Amino acid sequence: MRRRTFCASGLTALVYASLPYSRVCAAAGDDVAAMSLGGEQRVLKPTDIDDFRASLRGQLLMPGENGYESARKVWNGAFDRKPALIARCAGAGDVTRAVSFARTHELLTAVRGGGHSLSAQSACDGGLMIDLSPMGSIRIDPLARTARVEPGVLLGQFDREAQVFGLATTAGTISHTGAAGLTLGGGFGRLARKYGLACDNLAAVDLITADGRFLRASAKENPDLFWGLRGGGGNFGIATSFEYRLHTVGPTVFGGALIYPFTGARELLRSFADFDAHAPDELYVDVLLVTNPDHQRVAVFDVCYCGSLAHAERAVAPLRSLGKPLHDGLGRAPYVELQRSGDAGFPHGRGYYVKSGYVHGITAEAIDVAVDYLESSPLDTSVIAFSNLGGAINHVKPEATAYWHRAVTRDVLVAGFWDDRSGAERPTQWVRGIWPKLEPLTNGFYVNTGVSDDTQRRVRAAYGDNYPRLVALKKRYDPTNLFRLNANIKPT
Ligand SMILES: Cc1cc2nc3c(=O)[nH]c(=O)nc-3n(C[C@H](O)[C@H](O)[C@H](O)COP(=O)(O)OP(=O)(O)OC[C@H]3O[C@@H](n4cnc5c(N)ncnc54)[C@H](O)[C@@H]3O)c2cc1C
Repeated sequence: MRRRTFCASGLTALVYASLPYSRVCAAAGDDVAAMSLGGEQRVLKPTDIDDFRASLRGQLLMPGENGYESARKVWNGAFDRKPALIARCAGAGDVTRAVSFARTHELLTAVRGGGHSLSAQSACDGGLMIDLSPMGSIRIDPLARTARVEPGVLLGQFDREAQVFGLATTAGTISHTGAAGLTLGGGFGRLARKYGLACDNLAAVDLITADGRFLRASAKENPDLFWGLRGGGGNFGIATSFEYRLHTVGPTVFGGALIYPFTGARELLRSFADFDAHAPDELYVDVLLVTNPDHQRVAVFDVCYCGSLAHAERAVAPLRSLGKPLHDGLGRAPYVELQRSGDAGFPHGRGYYVKSGYVHGITAEAIDVAVDYLESSPLDTSVIAFSNLGGAINHVKPEATAYWHRAVTRDVLVAGFWDDRSGAERPTQWVRGIWPKLEPLTNGFYVNTGVSDDTQRRVRAAYGDNYPRLVALKKRYDPTNLFRLNANIKPT
């Protein structure tokens, strides 16, 4: 039996009719235009859409329907993508049905966890967006020190739940990032030097593959797949549950921001680089060169010491002695508070353009390029950040998981920001301007931040010598490349 299909009307219908891939309906029962995997137009029958909608426990949203506009939005406001359909999945069953619908109709398919993809690959124009954000359950087992986390969970939610029990695992530094995308690509942050990447802390993953199978991947079950899921991004299927190992952390740790004047940044960073080469694994220091809307330039050390509080002051003392800070915000703080401390700087909806690559330490050459370039930045808001890696990440062999770049100790990231008023042109050009100077100093790219332009050269460099094994895995689990909106491993 046919159910009522939604139809846009009046002005809304006119707007949609002007879009290249939109619902072409003006009356109930019309066909729907969508984008295929190969980029051609597909026509979806209303009966098929109705059946798909009825099969879901969650919602199916189309342009013009309540909730569609907010569901299609992702973190990076530079992108304004309009999927033909959004399946808001309530559970693994919905994910299976959505994958089956995408496969049957050969639809361009985007997978959304937390929506933080820098290049907005979790949204698509005209295709099917499989939205996992309603899947938000977290189960902490304080006795086994494990967590079971669904793919719509954000890092801050995970931290808050685990910290009730004094536990945590490696997460990123901005708490509104999704756990799913971050973990599948690797995942580093304040605890990574001590406990390894987020993906190193995985014990098991539940996955729906392109052919609709449910598989569990762990050291014992489908170990090849488990290998690929730790650093291979979203290439092999849709993860519906992650099982992590947890560690005793906090709830109070030592950290905060040390802010220095930009004058003297070159010498500051050079002295820091000497200290950095021998820093303990418990100490995490992101180094940021920042311009802010008052056109002030500063150098920031974003610090977290996750070891014993009794040793914290001693561990950070060399940092404090590097210069005379404008602000010394170091002290005891709840771990969840530190994890939220950078959030306001990276709000949803603003436009961002980013380039990044791994480096071996903060070299004098990289310091010169970064300091000179930020000094002349014409932008209200711009950042050059050297994120901290190393420590336990380096102790895992590159071929032990799909995450290849184990030897590097920093990821340098350059970001330009804008809002509607200031526009994309200048920030984008600014970031592009530094990259020819900085890229020759890099050594590979991070799947989650370094391949946003998705050129094949960068993708290959991100996966390093693990690439041939990843291709073999892709052929096995996703031979038609249904999951291609990612740092894509081509099955051929
Ligand atoms: C402000 C900001 C701060 C960041 N800080 C850090 C950091 O400190 N450390 C770090 O390591 N990274 C960091 N990142 C990068 C981050 O790891 C990636 O953006 C990551 O993709 C975010 O995951 P998400 O689920 O929010 O993204 P989404 O946009 O939802 O997904 C990104 C991609 O991941 C895949 N994916 C997502 N969920 C699933 C799933 N369940 N199954 C299969 N594939 C899936 C899809 O291919 C999708 O295109 C940061 C990003 C931003 C924007």
